[in-house]
Amino acid sequence: MQNPCSPYRGRVAPSPTGLLHLGHASTFWTAFQRAQSARGTLVFRSDDLDPLRSQKKFETAALEDLLWLGIHWQEGPDHPGPFGPYCQSLRLPLYAQAFEQLRAQGFLYPCSCSRREVALALSAPHQTDPSEHYPGTCRPPEPRSAFPLPNSPVNWRFRIPASSPPLTFLDRAQGPQSATPGRDFGDFLVWRKDGLPSYQLATVVDDHRMKITEVVRGADLIPSTFQQILLYRALGWPSPAFFHCPLLCDPSGARLAKRSDSLSLQTLRLQHPSPESIRALFQSKACNAGRAPGSAPPSPAP
Ligand code: GLU
Repeated sequence: MQNPCSPYRGRVAPSPTGLLHLGHASTFWTAFQRAQSARGTLVFRSDDLDPLRSQKKFETAALEDLLWLGIHWQEGPDHPGPFGPYCQSLRLPLYAQAFEQLRAQGFLYPCSCSRREVALALSAPHQTDPSEHYPGTCRPPEPRSAFPLPNSPVNWRFRIPASSPPLTFLDRAQGPQSATPGRDFGDFLVWRKDGLPSYQLATVVDDHRMKITEVVRGADLIPSTFQQILLYRALGWPSPAFFHCPLLCDPSGARLAKRSDSLSLQTLRLQHPSPESIRALFQSKACNAGRAPGSAPPSPAP
């Protein structure tokens, strides 16, 4: 039962680029349970920024699958609320405002490299490949405040300060986490020349604007969290708390992904006609990726 005075605000943020699979269901179930146990609010946000891969039919399927599973939210595309709209494709002016603030304060520089990374920037990078570290080809030797907007559109990167100290945060599921900007990841994309923000910027803007207090998502997004923390700092916003769920694996130990069609919720629902029997699979398939050795068990929702 939701308590209107509870400060807890969580979210589920599927990308409607395919059918949800068991891994999503497990993470979103955890997000729902944490919001429930805090008697807080859960937001459903559609991360539909990728115009080529996002499809309304997948958003409809996600809403329907999650409701069937027993997950309920108080705000979302189907439940208008005070922090809408709840589809990223309808929030572009908010991202542009944050981009302008970062540019004006000298955190960004224009870049004409790396077509592949630019193509991937709209979606959450579930498998981070360290070899994709940006080598700094377009990085100016000195930071420059308010880099002027070039005549033709370009991509924009966040400039990681030279010799940045390690960033740390205490993950509520995985324990202490640490990464060194510049060593563990390079200058990352914030804005694409086609006028769209990267996943990192859009997520930070929305989690801040939607007043999310705890971000629950898969442990494969821990590397993104460090980039997002840099954006929160640059924008002068507090970071939410983070709870990165263990991933689910198939019998060979490989991470479940959207392309594992046999494990899409739609298919599983045919074999397991009750939500309880699907939820029972979450435990049996946890592969606990990303948990720091000796880390404490997950902390309860506040
Ligand atoms: N939209 C992302 C996905 O579907 C999740 C992003 C996040 O939780 O920050 O994988």
